Amino acid sequence: MSPTPPLHPDHPPYHSEDQNRAVLEAVEVSKHFPVSRGWWRRHTLCAVDTLSLRIMPGEHIAVVGESGCGKSTLGRLLVNLLKPTQGQVYFDGQDINKLSARDLKRLRSDVQMVFQDPHNALNPRITAGSMLAEALRLHHRKLTKKQIDEGVAELLMRVGLNPNQSRRYPHAFSGGQRQRLCIARALSVNPRVLIADEITSALDVSVQAQIVNLLLDLRRNLGLAYVFITHDLHLAEHVSQHVVVMYLGRIIESGPSRSVFAEPRHPYSQALIGASPHSDPKRKLQQLSLRGEPPSPIDRPQGCAFHPRCPHAEPGLCDRITPTLSPLTEHHQVACHLISPSLHVPPSEQNTKF
Ligand code: SF4
Repeated sequence: MSPTPPLHPDHPPYHSEDQNRAVLEAVEVSKHFPVSRGWWRRHTLCAVDTLSLRIMPGEHIAVVGESGCGKSTLGRLLVNLLKPTQGQVYFDGQDINKLSARDLKRLRSDVQMVFQDPHNALNPRITAGSMLAEALRLHHRKLTKKQIDEGVAELLMRVGLNPNQSRRYPHAFSGGQRQRLCIARALSVNPRVLIADEITSALDVSVQAQIVNLLLDLRRNLGLAYVFITHDLHLAEHVSQHVVVMYLGRIIESGPSRSVFAEPRHPYSQALIGASPHSDPKRKLQQLSLRGEPPSPIDRPQGCAFHPRCPHAEPGLCDRITPTLSPLTEHHQVACHLISPSLHVPPSEQNTKF
């Protein structure tokens, strides 16, 4: 299917930029938050730790992991809602902390984020139509009133809402319809990347399916790049080409969704995917059960952060040395001492421990 034309003839076409250059790239990004426990004790919460991620035009990436692993912080770093403590985020090859006002405006429209709670994301005093008209007016100043009215109707139809509903206030919509409105508002500026932060987790299962189908339709029609931040592995597998598994602020496995979900290599990915209620019973996944709770990001364990829960942890190695993300294949990387070729594990033992 050919891409749907942009909303108005004076809009730039979708994806006119270099298809071989990353739209967004995080390079060794860390985000620390100061935390106080009583007035005399100050700690640092390390939400994201030296993480690198590249998003190519039209790519669909899922970021998965348990609550508190830093997924949402990563999303906010990518859209410049948070400043990294260390490292850089690049937009179209430029450091977003050094963008001119003009390029910053382009970043604001090219990279859009949709949040988990559609109720809090919408102004209860503004009708759906006014909200979308305002967004169109703000980013496309030359549009006439007629073009804006047409744009609002088109946006509502694009997300499966009726243009007649444009006079309704947010409270008159259901949860799923409010999330569609949030997606319509994000689409009003013709973004190149949509960062979806747990956008289905507050919705009923049937509504979740509708939102997922809507995203798949938009993906086919608009050619957007997506970053799906989710703890729902079934959704992640369904919508993404590439999956990134995070644990305590770091990427511990990254690879094509098909191979990671069929044959996860990191013990944490194996436990996570094996525990999913939607996990395919035909897949012969290692049934690992996780010990205990995830450690606090304030008291990050030394060495591999997963070692207190890992059934394969090797004393003296895993509790002392932090494994780096190393390639298994061209696109599949894992951070585990027992798999990583960087630690010179003999070829006969590589990739066979689990
Ligand atoms: Fe387990 Fe050690 Fe691998 Fe960490 S590095 S996942 S503790 S085996």
